[in-house]
Amino acid sequence: MLGLMQDYQLTVQTILDHAALNHGEREMVTRSIEGPIRRTTYQDIRERALCVAKALQKEGIGIGDRIATMAWNTDRHVEIWYGIMGLGAICHTVNPRLFAEQLVYIVNHAEDKMLFVDLTFVPIVEAIADKLPTIQKYIIMTDDAHMPETSLPNVITYETWLAASDADFTWGVFDENTASSLCYTSGTTGNPKGVLYSHRSNVLHGLMCNQPDVLGINSNDNILPIVPMFHANAWAITYAVPAAGASLIMPGAGMDGKSIYELLDSEKVSASAAVPTVWLGLLQYLEENDLALPYLDRVLIGGAACPRMMIETLENKYDVEVIHGWGMTEMSPVGTTGKLKHATEHLRGDERVKLKLRQGRTPYMVEMKIIDDEGNDLPRDGATSGHLLVRGPAISKAYFKHDEEILDQDDWFDTGDIANIDELGYMQITDRDKDVIKSGGEWISSIEIENTAVGCEGVAEAAVIGIAHPKWTERPLLIILRKEDSEVSAADVLAYLDGKIATWWMPDGVEFVDEIPHTATGKIQKMTLREQFGGYAFKAPD
Ligand code: ADP
Repeated sequence: MLGLMQDYQLTVQTILDHAALNHGEREMVTRSIEGPIRRTTYQDIRERALCVAKALQKEGIGIGDRIATMAWNTDRHVEIWYGIMGLGAICHTVNPRLFAEQLVYIVNHAEDKMLFVDLTFVPIVEAIADKLPTIQKYIIMTDDAHMPETSLPNVITYETWLAASDADFTWGVFDENTASSLCYTSGTTGNPKGVLYSHRSNVLHGLMCNQPDVLGINSNDNILPIVPMFHANAWAITYAVPAAGASLIMPGAGMDGKSIYELLDSEKVSASAAVPTVWLGLLQYLEENDLALPYLDRVLIGGAACPRMMIETLENKYDVEVIHGWGMTEMSPVGTTGKLKHATEHLRGDERVKLKLRQGRTPYMVEMKIIDDEGNDLPRDGATSGHLLVRGPAISKAYFKHDEEILDQDDWFDTGDIANIDELGYMQITDRDKDVIKSGGEWISSIEIENTAVGCEGVAEAAVIGIAHPKWTERPLLIILRKEDSEVSAADVLAYLDGKIATWWMPDGVEFVDEIPHTATGKIQKMTLREQFGGYAFKAPD
């Protein structure tokens, strides 16, 4: 027998409708790409999103068509994002940091019909436009007064294009399982793969992220998503915030410490989310200028492991709660968050920091487990590491236009991460499966060594890779990027690590480099480092 409840479809435009009707006056504040701060409201955003949908339809765009955006977090990007999805078309957020060949690959693979591009990225698109045959129109996200000289064909400014439309439009009517958006993984090996979200998965994931133990957003919050919308849904923020009626503060292209601080302060931001490197920039700016963060209550830090120093500084010096999170594009992306809970609330000092260094526990709607190489379930004992598997309603079951099976017979998805889970459900990532260092039959966590090493004075960034070893199979090599003007030595770093990590984890060598390579989502590119240090031999101890 089926229940007798309404067949209300969980489509993302219902979120914007809700925000406009019930929080229509609530502001969205944007650091515009042209420069000045721009203020708008959910009411305006909805009107303009309807204009976008109507204008797209006039262009012949309909359900299932892919429309690309290459844009920062701004009010315009939000309007376009909801306008595309509300029509039933698919919003393909393109990461401008991908290499040119990858950009060409994904736009062609997605068969995008139009591309909305921010002023900043026009040169990137111009350089590849002749290789993008499916794009029928380019829309530069500015007004005519700021229109640059451009070689792009069939090009118009956003404001001119929008002015020819109006908001007299009804959202598309379609099933909640209809595809809403497309985001390609950064593809450290092989071509990027398309993760195709549905309206239902995005709505559920947005609500999931609104739970008190995740971001816990309410209508009094002012939320600054620094994590870009092209980086896996801005971690759900562009859905979760309007759903809650909170204010969205959009940083535009201003990712540096000064720009971020200005918005945190002037807009009284209560919560924010970004990868660790952004917080490093902010902390440095605060330190140099002797500033405080009186309004900021909590920050979500993820995408890469959050270093100990960052948790300690934000919590102890600035009184900002750190919520360490983990996830991946295939998971929409949030998988775990590390809020304290009833059984851990009492922890203080080092024990508390140690728990916060773990990537956290799953909210309702994510299931996770760890297995060994043979597929056997492993215990939640906080020590045993294994392959981390997940399942849930906002987790991929296949890649776009790919035949490859990605789930096992029980629908579990292998994240490619290696982790342990403790008795209370707090998970800790120890490595990517392709980066683990096998030494004497045991695994060494490169992530833990790196995170400890960045706490050493003078170390800007650290990466650990395995180097082949005749006796132990592999041993760790620590690669360091020094802070400007620092002369920190190998002996200094090793002395700092001494006592903080297991003795048998101590790197057999330390090398200094001028640059550590990163992927398009800011992760250390270990493959490149392994190539760079291919054939490396550890020096015999003095
Ligand atoms: P994104 O770029 O959106 O972070 P990706 O899909 O490119 O997502 O990368 C996901 C991977 O990033 C995870 O599988 C994991 O290896 C790594 N990652 C994400 N968050 C953390 C974290 N808090 N600690 C360690 N690794 C993380």
